[in-house]
Amino acid sequence: RIAYVNGSYVAHAEAGVHVEDRGYQFGDGVYEVCEVRGGHMVDERRHMARLVRSLGELRIRLPMSLAALGVVLRQTIARNRVRDGLVYLQVTRGVARRDHYFPDAATPPSLVVTARSVDPAKGEAVAGQGIAVITVPDNRWERVDIKTIGLLPNVLAKEAAKQAGAREAWFVDASGHVTEGGSTNAWIVTPEGRLITRPAESGILRGITRTVMMEVAEKLQLRVEERPFTVAEALGAREAFVTSATNFATPVVRIDGQTIGDGRPGPVVRALRENFHQVAEIAR
Ligand code: PLP
Repeated sequence: RIAYVNGSYVAHAEAGVHVEDRGYQFGDGVYEVCEVRGGHMVDERRHMARLVRSLGELRIRLPMSLAALGVVLRQTIARNRVRDGLVYLQVTRGVARRDHYFPDAATPPSLVVTARSVDPAKGEAVAGQGIAVITVPDNRWERVDIKTIGLLPNVLAKEAAKQAGAREAWFVDASGHVTEGGSTNAWIVTPEGRLITRPAESGILRGITRTVMMEVAEKLQLRVEERPFTVAEALGAREAFVTSATNFATPVVRIDGQTIGDGRPGPVVRALRENFHQVAEIAR
C-alpha cells in the first residue's frame, strides 16, 4: 500500500508525520472520508465543499488547489488499485514547536491521503443483518458541524457500543433527543412511514450521505421531516437506520437491547440503499 504524505507517495507501512505535527499534538486538523466505487470517488464535489468549510471554520489553509487535491486523491486511489473502498484525507495546521497559539501564518498545513479496498460484500452482509446501537449522553463540544480529527468522545462511545455487543452509539442531547451516531447520521421511519432525521443546523455533522439520501427519498416519493426525535420515539419506530460514506444506509434493528419493528431490516432502508448510487454523483 501507498500513502501520500506532504508531497510524496511513500510505502504505507513507513508513512509518518513529524512528532510536532499539530494534528498529533492537539488534534488540530480536519478530515474527509469518501467512498470509492468502480475506481471513482462518490460525491467528491460535496466532500471537497465540506472540507473547504471545515478548514475555513478553523482558519486552516487549503494545502493546495482543489484541482491539485483531486489529482492526489485519484493518484492515491490508482496507486493502491482501489476499485471499491475508501479514500481518506487529513489536513492539519502543520508542524510547529508545541504551543497552543496558531503557528506563523507561513507554516504549511500537512496533508495526508490514504486509500484502501473494502469488500462490498461485507457492507451488504452487515446491512442484511442490521445492527444494534446503544445510546450514550452527547458529551461533545458545540462545533460538531466541523469534521475535526478530534474524535475522542466518538471513540469512547463506539468502544462502549462494541463492549455492549453493538456496532454504533447514538449520542443523546440534554433534552433526550438523538443527535447522531459516533460516525453516522441517525434516522427513523415513523409508524406512518415518514422519514425523520435531525436538522443539520444543530448538534450534528451535515453528512454527505444524509444530504444525498434526502434526494433518494424524494425520488422514491417518501416524506422526509427534518426534526429532532427522542429515544422513546426511536424505540417505537417502524424502522431505524444510520447513514455514512462508509456504508451508505445501514438498518438498525436494536436500540439499547430493544427490538425495532420486527427486528429485521425494513423495506424503506432497503429501497434507500438500492437507489443510493443512482442519485449519488460518481466523478469519473
Ligand atoms: N456524523 C459523524 C459524527 C461522522 O463522523 C460521520 C462520518 O464520518 C457522519 C455523521 C456521516 O457523514 P458522511 O455521510 O459525510 O460520511
